[in-house]
Amino acid sequence: MFTNNLVNYPELYLFYCRHMPAHTSREVLVIFSSLTTCDPGNIYELIKTLNGLKIRVSVIGLSAEVRVCTILTRETGGSYNVILDESHFKELLLLHVKPPPASSSSECSLIRMGFPQHVIASLSDQDAKPSFSMAHLDSSSEPELSLGGYYCPQCRAKYTELPVECKVCGLTLVSAPHLARSFHHLFPLEAFQETPLEEYEGERFCEACQGELKDKSVFTCLACKKVFCVECDIFIHDTLHCCPGCMQIDGTS
Ligand SMILES: [Zn+2]
Ligand SMILES: [Zn+2]
Ligand SMILES: [Zn+2]
Repeated sequence: MFTNNLVNYPELYLFYCRHMPAHTSREVLVIFSSLTTCDPGNIYELIKTLNGLKIRVSVIGLSAEVRVCTILTRETGGSYNVILDESHFKELLLLHVKPPPASSSSECSLIRMGFPQHVIASLSDQDAKPSFSMAHLDSSSEPELSLGGYYCPQCRAKYTELPVECKVCGLTLVSAPHLARSFHHLFPLEAFQETPLEEYEGERFCEACQGELKDKSVFTCLACKKVFCVECDIFIHDTLHCCPGCMQIDGTS
């Protein structure tokens, strides 16, 4: 929300989060440009209410640090940053794009999901008939005829893009990479333990690249106790998001 005062209505914060089921995290990002706030009630009461509702409030300040924002973000578990310039603002804003790790207190619930396969039909195919995508049902944009698409496994409604909630039967349609991409944000891989090479006793090979461990330090996964070189540690945490050692154990057991 864009605001000049931290409006003291928990309903307003709830308004932004009301569609969120209990297992999701509730996040509000306030872009705050004022140096003062004028709130109709006690702001500390609002902070308590937000805490109770498990709404995490983060603030990006455009002018200078305001103490009440510091308290608001600290108490609700959000982050508070003040921008230095335009590019810094963009950087801070983009930090909020990634979903935060799942808190252990959030509820679990099962969601039915469909994994439709992309059906490619070519014009040379005699049986192929162009059809409309159901995604246009409730939008004002002009529906377009297309040949292939993703078909809902439950009701066979066609969509040209994923992820989408099926407009006909309500099934959430995703592709496996979508799921994998959001999973590593919610459950990030724990940092590996760094040990100086002199103190390390054990196999001298990196579990991932099979190269000799000759850098200053080696990195041990605390779950599977496998060791990795510095390059593989960076690759595993920045790109792969899962430990190859743990994957081997999971796969064989
Ligand atoms: Zn459907
Ligand atoms: Zn390696
Ligand atoms: Zn591991």
